[in-house]
Amino acid sequence: MSDELMNEEIIEPSKPKKPEDYYGTFSTDFIYEYKDQPDIRDGKCDNCGNSHFQISIGNKKLLRECRQCGMKKNI
Ligand SMILES: [Zn+2]
Repeated sequence: MSDELMNEEIIEPSKPKKPEDYYGTFSTDFIYEYKDQPDIRDGKCDNCGNSHFQISIGNKKLLRECRQCGMKKNI
C-alpha cells in the first residue's frame, strides 16, 4: 500500500527583516502616522531609503514627504 505523502512544508523561522525588504511596500496615497509607523531607519524613507524630504506644516503636524517616492508621514 502506497500512501502518498503530503508535501511537507518547511516552515522557516521568521527571519529578521532588513529595511530593504520593506522598500516598495508602502502606499504613497496614504499618510502614515509616525506613532503607528516609526521610521525603520531613523530619518530615512521606509519605502525607498531616501533621506531627502519635503516638510510641510499643517494641523499642528509636520508632514514629511519623500522627495524620491512620495511616501508621506506625519511626524
Ligand atoms: Zn521614499
